[in-house]
Amino acid sequence: MTLTQKVAVVTGSTSGIGLGIARALAGAGADVVLNGFGDAAAIEELRAGLTAEFGVRVGYHGADLSKPAEIATLIGYAEETFGSVDVLVNNAGIQHVAPVEDFPAERWDAVIALNLSAVFHGIHHALPGMKRRGWGRILNIASVHGHVASVNKAAYVAAKHGVVGLTKTVALETAGTGVTCNAICPGWVLTPLVQKQIDAIASTKNIPEQQARAELLGAKQPSGAFVTPDELGGLAVYLCSDSAAQMTGSSLLMDGGWTAQ
Ligand code: NAD
Repeated sequence: MTLTQKVAVVTGSTSGIGLGIARALAGAGADVVLNGFGDAAAIEELRAGLTAEFGVRVGYHGADLSKPAEIATLIGYAEETFGSVDVLVNNAGIQHVAPVEDFPAERWDAVIALNLSAVFHGIHHALPGMKRRGWGRILNIASVHGHVASVNKAAYVAAKHGVVGLTKTVALETAGTGVTCNAICPGWVLTPLVQKQIDAIASTKNIPEQQARAELLGAKQPSGAFVTPDELGGLAVYLCSDSAAQMTGSSLLMDGGWTAQ
């Protein structure tokens, strides 16, 4: 239980990767503040379920992270209700797929606001407390698309490359303070965000979902298998451990070999 007495805020943790990381941090003993959208009763069930399963305090705040003022409110809520923010996982993200000349400017703004600017705002508000206490862990969920590009993902690829750069800057500015800042860069993970892309392939090519899934993986991920939220949770717990005290400014790939090609 390496994270007992630590408080973790995990953005976008009502689903997918964020939920996997929140579960892993709770399993390591951290109190957790969940965030994200969804049905209120389902979120409450999730919150109460994590509390019961892991015996830690679990809160929820529904801040819309595309709005900077609400990010300040989320961090304030965590500090006031739980006493501190020791671990900040900037995970919430969205995707939009279109060729650059057809990419709606409004979707560009939305992807950049959530996938990049929200990471800045979260760090901006959480870092002073971490520095004061002399310990902190910032994990930014970037992507393989922080390292390489794919067609039709202009905003997403720009945002994720931005997150990798921001991670390095924050690592330099916090070096020697007890705070580390790293990026996690997953390949394909089967979450609602990716399911939408599988559905789009299936409908465009008029093929069964199973075949669309295999095509999506086969095009990029040599392992032929999805990375799982649990596996990413394990990496997150490691990055929060004392063993990772000197790991900062890194962007760690977990991508089934995608970027080895
Ligand atoms: P997901 O759609 O399953 O979850 C996204 C989460 O963000 C949900 O909890 C949702 O409610 C929340 N969210 C959406 N808009 C929000 C907003 N404005 N304010 C607050 N919360 C908001 O997606 P996922 O696949 O788990 O993605 C999580 C992160 O991982 C994203 O940053 C994504 O870019 C990244 N990622 C995903 C994959 C993948 O293959 N799924 C690969 C690499 C990186």
